[in-house]
Amino acid sequence: MSRLPFLGIAVVPLLRPPGPRPAFQLPVACGETWRLSTYPGHDDYDVDLFPTTGEAWGRPVLASADGTVTVAGINGSLGGRTPQDPDGPRGRGGGYWVKIDHGGKWETQYLHLLEAPSVTAGQRVARGDQIGRVGSTGNSGAPHLHYEQRRGWSKVEAHFDGVPSGITSDDREYTVRRTSANCGP
Ligand SMILES: [Zn+2]
Repeated sequence: MSRLPFLGIAVVPLLRPPGPRPAFQLPVACGETWRLSTYPGHDDYDVDLFPTTGEAWGRPVLASADGTVTVAGINGSLGGRTPQDPDGPRGRGGGYWVKIDHGGKWETQYLHLLEAPSVTAGQRVARGDQIGRVGSTGNSGAPHLHYEQRRGWSKVEAHFDGVPSGITSDDREYTVRRTSANCGP
């Protein structure tokens, strides 16, 4: 029996190139304006989000696009930074976090959530579904949402509503304001 049919099934999916970028939206409520920023030592393509009005603590974190939750748990250690004790002990890593698989080898990640995510691994989510709330768990200086878009195994420049964020490098501080179009089904 030829091995070729086996190779055809097992190898080709691994070599398949990533699919087209999903129509990602900002992971925050429709109509809200947030500051997207990075700083030296962050990491290339990493985006930190801070609201331009009101408290960051507890703000809803929404799925950027339809997908399946692949991780909903703790990365590193939580530390002790809470709304009641914002300067409490700093944790390590991402703290409470969520990873969503959007298909076509595209993923998004959401870090430093306030409490255990409101979704579980294996759960299907639609764009705009709430997955958690903004906090400061893990290695976080102040309440914010750390956010990444990945293609394959690599981070890429985050796009929102079809527009590149402009955050490609952590060589210097950079900030841009964007208004969420993560609105309705
Ligand atoms: Zn960050």
